[in-house]
Amino acid sequence: MAQIEAIQGDITQLSVDAIVNAANSSLLGGGGVDGAIHDAAGPELLDACRKLGGCATGAAKATPGFRLPAKWVFHAVGPVWDGGNRNEDRLLASCYQQCLELAREYGAHSIAFPAISTGVYRFPPDRAANIAIRTVRAHFEASGVEQVQFVCFNFETFQIYERLLSIPAIA
Ligand code: ADP
Repeated sequence: MAQIEAIQGDITQLSVDAIVNAANSSLLGGGGVDGAIHDAAGPELLDACRKLGGCATGAAKATPGFRLPAKWVFHAVGPVWDGGNRNEDRLLASCYQQCLELAREYGAHSIAFPAISTGVYRFPPDRAANIAIRTVRAHFEASGVEQVQFVCFNFETFQIYERLLSIPAIA
């Protein structure tokens, strides 16, 4: 039985098979969690990202973790929130689903997600957490992942995840 939990902390510190980056479509680095991951992984990460040729919104691509404790980084491009009528929900769900597909492909059994799109991209945190949890619950089994961590950078986000995770999944 897989373990799905929320933790508060810095995703760059985690010794898991894969951490997910909330990247932008250029994959050439940015602020927030993206900047933190590039700083911690070292310049080799940017070199590897350059070779990927960008990434569409809702999709994800993999690189090694280089100097990070994590073996892999899955770079997912979340949607920018624009009121909710521009497919934002479906694109955000697609990020989580594609990362689990990469986990299967790369044999990653443990994966850590940040709250994709809830920073600079302004997705409402509650709504984003709901989508993240629902999508992961629906797809982790097929991916072979045994441990999922939702890494919350602040206490407010952690509280949202704790509350939603305490509600049992509806079959
Ligand atoms: P986006 O552009 O997808 O909104 P951001 O990086 O701006 O991405 O924010 C996504 C989330 O990542 C936010 O909830 C932010 O607080 C969080 N975050 C920022 N730095 C870290 C970090 N080092 N570890 C985990 N989460 C982080």
